[in-house]
Amino acid sequence: MQIRVSEIGPEGLAVDETLSVEALAEIFAGDLPTSFSPVNPAACTGLVRMTGLDVMVQIDCTLRLATDCANCLEQFELDVPVGFSLTLRPATQTMAKDAELTAEDLDEASYSGDKVELFRLLHDQIILALPMFPRCSVPCMGLCPNCGGKLNTSDCTCERDSD
Ligand SMILES: [Zn+2]
Ligand SMILES: [Zn+2]
Repeated sequence: MQIRVSEIGPEGLAVDETLSVEALAEIFAGDLPTSFSPVNPAACTGLVRMTGLDVMVQIDCTLRLATDCANCLEQFELDVPVGFSLTLRPATQTMAKDAELTAEDLDEASYSGDKVELFRLLHDQIILALPMFPRCSVPCMGLCPNCGGKLNTSDCTCERDSD
């Protein structure tokens, strides 16, 4: 999943890539292990184009994932949309700037030479798109604080105050 900058024409270059379940699993087991696992391969489409020396990358995909509900701990499946557009500056220009990260840098990355590694960009954006507290349903009732039973499936028979 690499793009050659020299191959980006005036109309841009269409992106049409499928992330395999294996590639996705690798992302979720990576530097920041997550509780997510891929259910299906993910089709990613978008466009890469040049603005002067900058490379603009715009990609959209939807991931079908399985994870544990943060509330009731049941495993469930969810769709996580990942959509982003990034401006990549040539590496030399970025290096000349202050080495310190600014808020701007969160939306800005760089490319060096003739290559843009789309997989690396997707990797970071997918991690960012993952919900911190995934919920199996709205509203998920969670667990009973008293007996730990699952309130969604009424495992719990505790009496509750109706207030
Ligand atoms: Zn739940
Ligand atoms: Zn209970």
